[in-house]
Amino acid sequence: MALPTLVIRADAEMGIRRHGREAYPHECCGALFGRDQLVTEAFALPNATGEGARRRFLVRPADYRAAERRAIELGEELVGFYHSHPDHPARPSRYDLDHAWPVFAYVIVSVEGGNPVALTSWRLREDRSAFDEEPIALESHGENEKQTEERREETGEA
Ligand SMILES: [Zn+2]
Repeated sequence: MALPTLVIRADAEMGIRRHGREAYPHECCGALFGRDQLVTEAFALPNATGEGARRRFLVRPADYRAAERRAIELGEELVGFYHSHPDHPARPSRYDLDHAWPVFAYVIVSVEGGNPVALTSWRLREDRSAFDEEPIALESHGENEKQTEERREETGEA
């Protein structure tokens, strides 16, 4: 069964990639704001894991609440979370599976040698047995389009 497409505004997608680049070689993480299948903003959170941020991320309850409050201030909803996989494919790990909630989108950006490459989004099955990948579409807005084009050239993406 194909999942519905997650639409990500181009500037939110760039924010995720930028955060992944800045945090490298550590994982970055953040919250995704929007509504239903639309992500309008990426909100950076501190990576609070005590096990070393290279391989896993943890959102503390206080940060989770801060993200929810910020979403409400913006008139949006908390629709998911993102994190980076430094020098690892953009596929969820066993740790990611064990720490996910079924209602959210989980966006993962792979950062290879400091450069953000593949970006994917995942949904946890209701029985929590696995993630399913959902398609992603980018939504460009006027002045952001040019920036997006430039970034594609820079990263060598098609
Ligand atoms: Zn992960």
